[in-house]
Order: sequence, then C-alpha cells, then structure tokens
Amino acid sequence: MENKTVDILDIPFYRTTQERFIDELLRDAENEYRRFVVTANPEIVMSAKNDIEFKKVVQQADYITADGIGIIMAAEKLGLPLSERVTGFDTMIGILKQAADKKMKIFFLGAKPEVSKALPVMLSKNYPELEVVGCRHGYFTEEENEAIVAEIQAGEPDFIFVALGSPTQEKWIESHLSAFSKGIFMGVGGSFDILSGTVKRAPKIMIKLRLEWLYRIATNPSRWRRFLALPRFFACCESRKKAA
Ligand code: UDP
Repeated sequence: MENKTVDILDIPFYRTTQERFIDELLRDAENEYRRFVVTANPEIVMSAKNDIEFKKVVQQADYITADGIGIIMAAEKLGLPLSERVTGFDTMIGILKQAADKKMKIFFLGAKPEVSKALPVMLSKNYPELEVVGCRHGYFTEEENEAIVAEIQAGEPDFIFVALGSPTQEKWIESHLSAFSKGIFMGVGGSFDILSGTVKRAPKIMIKLRLEWLYRIATNPSRWRRFLALPRFFACCESRKKAA
C-alpha cells in the first residue's frame, strides 16, 4: 500500500491534492471531528528543525500539507513525490465556497484590527450566505486568551481559521485544542490580509511558474530574510538523503 505521508526532515507531509483535501476537511467537519491542520513551507520545516518544542507542536497536527514549492521539490528529489501544493489560502477559499451550502459555521481569528474589521464586509459581499460566528483580531494578550476560547466555544464553529503568523498560530492551536470538542483548526498566516483585499496575492502566472516566493519578496522586501531558510532547507534535505 502507498504511504499516506512523505517524510521531509522529520515532518510527515500528507499526500493529497488541493481538491481532495478540501473535501476531506468538509467530511471531517460534517462528522464533527476535531482536527489540527498545519500547512507547512520550508521555513516552518526549518523552524521545527531548530526548535524541538515547535517540532513537537507541528508533529501533533492531524494533517500537515505542503504549502510551498520548496516542499514539492524536496519530495521530488527524494523520489516520493507529493502531487501538488496544498496551501492554507486555497484550502480556506475552497471551504468558504462550500460552507454555506453545507451549513458550516466559521470563526476567523487573527490579523490586524483594521483587517479583522474589513473582513466581514468583504465576506458578506463575496459569500453572502456564509455563517460567520466570530471575527477577532490577532493582537491580544495572554490574559485575553480565556475570553477568546470562550467566544469560540460559544459560536460552535466548524472551521476556525487562525491567522497569527507562524509559529504563533500553530502554538496557539496546539495549546488550546483540548478546550474544544469539535472544529477544524487551521493556521493560515497572512491569508486574511489577502482575503480582505488589503494585500494582493501573486498573479496566477507566477504561481504556475513556481515563482510566488519571488513576488512576495518583491512586494514586501522586509521578508527577504525569511527566504534564507530556503537554501538551508535544500542543503539539509540533501545531506539527510546522503546519510540515509
Ligand atoms: N498577526 C497577528 N498577531 C500577531 C502577529 C501577526 O494577528 O501578534 C497577523 C498579521 O497581521 C498577519 C499574519 O498574522 O495577518 C501573519 O502574516 P505573515 O504573512 O507574516 O505570516 P506567514 O504567512 O509568514 O506565516
């Protein structure tokens, strides 16, 4: 039988396609399961490699998908290819498109206060039937955590998108998950900024040419440091392969 995951630097990546994954999460939600989803790029893999506590957090996830062309390329090199990128943004959009028909409730946690405020306006325009049970910005203190958990519990959402940036969002989900009996919790990074129209995603042609990372550096030069993780990531994959 084919393995369900491909291991890259101790992170087990789920073998699926974008479409299949969206369907699987919707089925999980229908069954009222509780799930923790990480969509990981090379940066996350490298953070996990350098931080054992964070690695344990990521390894708690029910699904880890390949959010980044670097992961796909590393899997190809290992001879255990992953079909395609399964990104946090596209997964979220796929869910939002079907959520109303399936009577699913959504909670949005994270992003700047102004983005969080703009989000419901944009959602009601583009997804008029969507049931949003909460929209809370991501700049809160430790003391406010309890109230946020209570707000999510009260809304009984089927999907909770957490946009606090990595690794904060994964740590937040992992440490609060046990407070909930159901819900699909997924870290989505800067996705609300794009969803609300505050930030633009790369043009489709660049995504197709595997150049989304270049667009992100060009439009947000302060991010360039993060991309240093990429050559280190490939070097680590290569040396692990040689050692195997
Ligand atoms: N953010 C937040 N609270 C924080 C720090 C960041 O809600 O304390 C939000 C930020 O406004 C942005 C997202 O988290 O919407 C992080 O986006 P980024 O693109 O940096 O994340 P990445 O995709 O790299 O994980």
